[in-house]
Amino acid sequence: MPLTEYISALSDNPYFGAGFGLFGVGAGAALLRKGFQSSLILFRRHYMITLEVPCRDKSYQWLLQWMTAKGAKQTQHLSVETSFEQKDSGLIKTKYDFIPNIGTHFFRYGRTWIKVERTREQHTLDLHMGTPWETVQLTAFGKDKHMFFSILEEARQLALDQHEGKTIMYNALGSEWRPLGHPRRKRPISSVILDTGKSEKILKDCQEFISNPSWYINRGIPYRRGYLLYGPPGCGKSSYITALAGELGFSICILNLSERSLSDDRLNHLLSVAPQQSIILLEDIDAAFVSREDTTQQKAAYEGLNRITFSGLLNCLDGVASTEARIVFMTTNYIKRLDPALIRPGRVDMQEYIGWCSQSQIEQMYLRFYDEEDAARHAKLFAEKATQLNPNISPAQVQGYFMLHKHSSFKDVIDNCESLCQS
Ligand code: ADP
Repeated sequence: MPLTEYISALSDNPYFGAGFGLFGVGAGAALLRKGFQSSLILFRRHYMITLEVPCRDKSYQWLLQWMTAKGAKQTQHLSVETSFEQKDSGLIKTKYDFIPNIGTHFFRYGRTWIKVERTREQHTLDLHMGTPWETVQLTAFGKDKHMFFSILEEARQLALDQHEGKTIMYNALGSEWRPLGHPRRKRPISSVILDTGKSEKILKDCQEFISNPSWYINRGIPYRRGYLLYGPPGCGKSSYITALAGELGFSICILNLSERSLSDDRLNHLLSVAPQQSIILLEDIDAAFVSREDTTQQKAAYEGLNRITFSGLLNCLDGVASTEARIVFMTTNYIKRLDPALIRPGRVDMQEYIGWCSQSQIEQMYLRFYDEEDAARHAKLFAEKATQLNPNISPAQVQGYFMLHKHSSFKDVIDNCESLCQS
């Protein structure tokens, strides 16, 4: 049969006609769908803006908090982050922070509606934190990318305002610094009473260092400064550093060098990504390493304690190069146990002994606790008696004693002084 006849026979066939019609409708629908999808993609590309913020980004938490505080108040689907805040009095208060739950939320910013999608990948882990990978995506109509910038700025400002008058403590988690609990109220530097002139001397040195970057840059010297506070326990080394950070408006990054999971590489990385305007605090530095002068027995005892090496630490300290002021504080109860290489100038530029209470320190502490009539004379009498009985009293002991006798008369405070001096 010739081809033309064959085609005309087929077109006369009603079944074939219906099938062809159906095929046509299906193809048309598919085309329409494809066209719709493409125009949606084009529309999204040209008339919508999106911003993706992954959980590793610094602004991630700020953004979630900001959305809860400002934009997404209306959302009914929240998740909670519970934390404990310790007041200065020692009272522990539970704090609940609500943040938008996983899913889609809408909120209005100015005159624009913004769609927020918070997603969690169950199969992808943030390897450093061991938590599921999360992202927040903001989508809005328009082309004004500046809006996202203002949102991020507002979120950052809100986070900063919440920390106004507070000192943030960070500790190292994986390869990142994470805030340790809630920011603490700044401790006034005058509340840590050191021996005459010491507090002012360290503060002045830090302030001079922070305000003088060009001095270092012009001479090609790394812009960092190291301090070592040494002396018996309970004399105010840690308290002073916390108060100093508050005074300078810095946060504190606490590093525990004895931590087994701390390798040289991780330490190097942590030091290079430390938050801006922060003091790196290496506490009880003697406990982390063995001095070269130690006996083989002592060396053996330390061996295998941790994975960071002494030369690794020295390299890290030397390599802390930063365009902004980098302040490293170390504390120890036993300066003799430190290797001289660790505390040579350049690594430790200022050393201060923070020791047992002097008479004037006890007097000042007395005056901070008691405001009875004739307090100055009482303070002098008490300080004289206490230092005569025991010249090695720590401020922590004095503080404990005063707390115990906070409602006692002066006579009782001075009569019971022996108990303080024997403690
Ligand atoms: P260190 O770090 O030297 O072991 P801390 O700073 O941890 O000592 O002090 C322990 C406690 O004693 C803190 O509660 C602190 O308030 C108090 N304290 C210690 N030294 C002083 C000081 N010089 N002035 C006021 N309080 C002090």
